[in-house]
Amino acid sequence: MVSLKSINIKSIDKAKRIVLKVGSSLIVNPNTGYINSTWLENLAQDILFLLSKNKEILIVSSGAIALGKIELNLQNKALKLAEKQAAAAAGQIVLAKAWKNVFEKMQIKCGQILVGHSDLETRRNAMNTRATLNTLIKLKVIPIINENDTVATLEIRYGDNDQLAARIAQLAEADVLILLSDIDGLYSKDPKSSKKAKFIAEVKNISKNIEDMAKNTKSNIASGGMITKIKAAKISTTAGCHLIIARGQDNNSLLKLFMGGKHTIFKANLTPLSAKKKWILRERNKLKFIIIDKDAEKALVSQKNLLASGIKSSSNSYDRGEIIDILSINKKLLGCGIIAYDAKEIKIIKGKKSKDIEKLLGYKGRDEAINKNDMIIN
Ligand code: GLU
Repeated sequence: MVSLKSINIKSIDKAKRIVLKVGSSLIVNPNTGYINSTWLENLAQDILFLLSKNKEILIVSSGAIALGKIELNLQNKALKLAEKQAAAAAGQIVLAKAWKNVFEKMQIKCGQILVGHSDLETRRNAMNTRATLNTLIKLKVIPIINENDTVATLEIRYGDNDQLAARIAQLAEADVLILLSDIDGLYSKDPKSSKKAKFIAEVKNISKNIEDMAKNTKSNIASGGMITKIKAAKISTTAGCHLIIARGQDNNSLLKLFMGGKHTIFKANLTPLSAKKKWILRERNKLKFIIIDKDAEKALVSQKNLLASGIKSSSNSYDRGEIIDILSINKKLLGCGIIAYDAKEIKIIKGKKSKDIEKLLGYKGRDEAINKNDMIIN
């Protein structure tokens, strides 16, 4: 094991929040179909090191279906959807147990999050997922995320964890997404079939040329090839998050990556916060608004949260998670932001103190109607 003091993090030293995607072909031994325990322990040591450097880590872990196949003796046949889902159900427990065991030895806490397409793609649910992720991180618990394969139907699932990880990175406003994979990065051609394949170390712009390079290099037990990685890179770089592809088979490959090991980096040319602000402006719905009082207006100018107590009135129909305008008493446009309540709820809690929200609505919502990080002020 490399001494922690000797580490010099070269490539991604500024990144604070990191999403790490671990492919099935790494966590599951392709020959036995069981967990690669030694490899996993080494990875956990690398993660422990990153935590000691004040990094925040979220893990997207594949492997449920591959592990479930062995568990249910289904390894030698092509599976129907229902059988795959059964395998995912049985395998997910094995997968979660492996992560729990390995982290427990290091006194690291972890929590399982299984998400469906609608948990990330509908605004209301996405806000809840984001809040849970942020709370886990605040509590120093590593989220271990996978798609909820057991109930998803074919048409409405991600199907691959590369894109799922990119959506998680976007939602969590991560700085870097690392896809630990069975390939060390992007090549101009498939390196397995062409000696002329050139390694691409850095991609600043995902052009058609780059997309053409992505050959579907499917391994036996993983769903993603280079095509899904490029799709993931598009999602994450648009969200201001760099994406790195690196080979993960060797022990301590994460640590080696941080010491400057071989990888392809897809660079984002904006920060996660500025990407979010751009998105807020793009999605803004001018017909939906709240009107706030003078004190709330002052609070916004000094970059504080917007509380329900400062809301005077509101337009009639919007959902939680929509982007609505914020107007002054004189109907001057002050800015816009992601509203944490729907219009009906705002009508009930407007002008009221945050501590009374639970009594008024019958459940405890968020303290702020619009969080300062979810708004743009003119
Ligand atoms: N969610 C799938 C599983 O856990 C993996 C999808 C993928 O390999 O990208 O088996």
